[in-house]
Amino acid sequence: MTGRPGLEGLEAYCREMGIDLEPGQSALLRRFWAMVLEQNARVNLTRITDDREAVLKHFVDSLTVLRAGVIHAGAKVADVGTGAGFPGVPLAIARPDVRVLLVEATGKRVKFLEGAVGALGLKNVEVLHERAEELARRTRGAGVADAVTARAVAPLYRLVAWCVPLLRAGGHLVAMKGPDVSEELGQAEQALGKAGARVAAVHRLELPGGAGGRTLLVIRREAVG
Ligand code: SAM
Repeated sequence: MTGRPGLEGLEAYCREMGIDLEPGQSALLRRFWAMVLEQNARVNLTRITDDREAVLKHFVDSLTVLRAGVIHAGAKVADVGTGAGFPGVPLAIARPDVRVLLVEATGKRVKFLEGAVGALGLKNVEVLHERAEELARRTRGAGVADAVTARAVAPLYRLVAWCVPLLRAGGHLVAMKGPDVSEELGQAEQALGKAGARVAAVHRLELPGGAGGRTLLVIRREAVG
């Protein structure tokens, strides 16, 4: 390990979750975290500042999105409400074959992301300063992505209304949630019907290091229009 921030245990914890990182990818993730911490002193990006907590609750948690099994080679992924870039930036680093569109409503976070993506030389990432529902309206609900990810953004019924119109037919929304999703699933029934989508899978995961349970709700858009 070289200096701070070390993100100690990153590779081992990821391996535990079935995610293999190459040394170059770990180095990029560490550089990204250093940028988040540096900017966090000026712009409110994350309440997590402890390295160990960041490894588990930002990086490993973000990469569990791969466990949903719906981000295929060459896919275009929109990360809605990406904030400081989670899960979108770790995803783009771990999967250079995938193109990631970071969608964020808040200008100061977008500015940070543009700087970080440029400094890290991430050619597979674009940053968009727009609300997800505006993007959906502008593109007439025709679908701009094969997959949409969203972590800690809104209740499922809202995510369905905002994100399903961003999906191509047969594409998937991966809503990254805490351990208890039964109430959210119940509340989303009407929104799912209206959007022409259905729950394709519910994956329950336990983060390593006792960091808690998570649920990946996988929603499939059945048809466009
Ligand atoms: N996904 C990140 C994470 O897990 O660390 C950020 C979570 S933060 C609690 C929620 C972010 O979603 C904020 O940065 C907010 O500006 C953004 N957001 C909320 N509603 C949005 C919308 N409709 N479209 C785009 N971004 C949105």
